[in-house]
Amino acid sequence: EKDELRKLKDMDAISKDGVQVGAWANIGSPNDVPGLLRNGAQGIGLYRTEFLFMNNDRFPTEDEQFEAYKSVAESLEGKPVTIRTMDIGGDKALSYMELPEEENPFLGWRALRVCLDRPEILKTQFRALLRASNYGQIKIMLPMIISVEEVRKAREILEECKAELRAAGVAFDEDIQFGIMVETPAVAMRARSFAKEVDFFSIGTNDLTQYTLAVDRGNENISNLYDTYNPGVLAAIKLSIDGAHEGGIPISMCGEFAGDEMATAILFGMGLDNFSMSAISVPRIKKNIMSLDKKECEALVERVMDMDTAEEVKAEINRFNAIHF
Ligand code: PEP
Ligand code: MG
Repeated sequence: EKDELRKLKDMDAISKDGVQVGAWANIGSPNDVPGLLRNGAQGIGLYRTEFLFMNNDRFPTEDEQFEAYKSVAESLEGKPVTIRTMDIGGDKALSYMELPEEENPFLGWRALRVCLDRPEILKTQFRALLRASNYGQIKIMLPMIISVEEVRKAREILEECKAELRAAGVAFDEDIQFGIMVETPAVAMRARSFAKEVDFFSIGTNDLTQYTLAVDRGNENISNLYDTYNPGVLAAIKLSIDGAHEGGIPISMCGEFAGDEMATAILFGMGLDNFSMSAISVPRIKKNIMSLDKKECEALVERVMDMDTAEEVKAEINRFNAIHF
């Protein structure tokens, strides 16, 4: 079994009927890069930069950020490196930044909301990302989006940074990709209109599940209710994928669900383009894709989307998986 998974390291995730998906990994720091390369990840679908901010006693400078992003971009040798802008707030605090006491921090002043109110934070990060884009294939990704206006405001700031760097003669990737996470029902339900604004989507199922079900992802009292197989959450995922493709852009998933072995068939059947997960899950998900047929997965999705309960959905998926894996 171990040897088999090791063999998968250099293989692509291609189904029996020839459809390929990306098998990518999530990281929290440049230290995670060797592990993802060892497991055969073909790119990074989520670099959580907030750890750079949290493991510090002040905001990291533009140069410090640049060095971290550059080192990851270089080690990936041209493979995609999707870097998410600072996603603090909610359960992630910064010792050196006063965040207000809030009744509902997960519904509060967090992530991009903080960045748009304090644009100097975003500018510093964008400049560091643009400078690092000269050393690999960096994609910029925004978290916790709920409106098209937010996307446009962030893009305006990005364009400002590009103009500054151009004027200063600093090299960067002029075609750098700009995308958003799908973490709220507001984006999932209107995916097509967001697809006109950006180059790619990535579904954050950890938050999309939390916000679709109104179930706190960290609250043990209701952890039995936190279920991404809830038909409402699956519908939100499907709407996001369909909306992306109607708008002509690719869509990835970087929430935990992408690494759930049980979910590979429905996600593949829905048309997900890239799976991004913990490095250790990469070989297994590749192997799953290789034993699947896209047409059969599409038929499974059709059956599952007609079901009324998570229990029925899981039973149907388990039946399918028992035959194919
Ligand atoms: C998510 O919400 O699914 C996600 C990938 O982001 P995080 O877990 O960092 O909130
Ligand atoms: Mg999230």
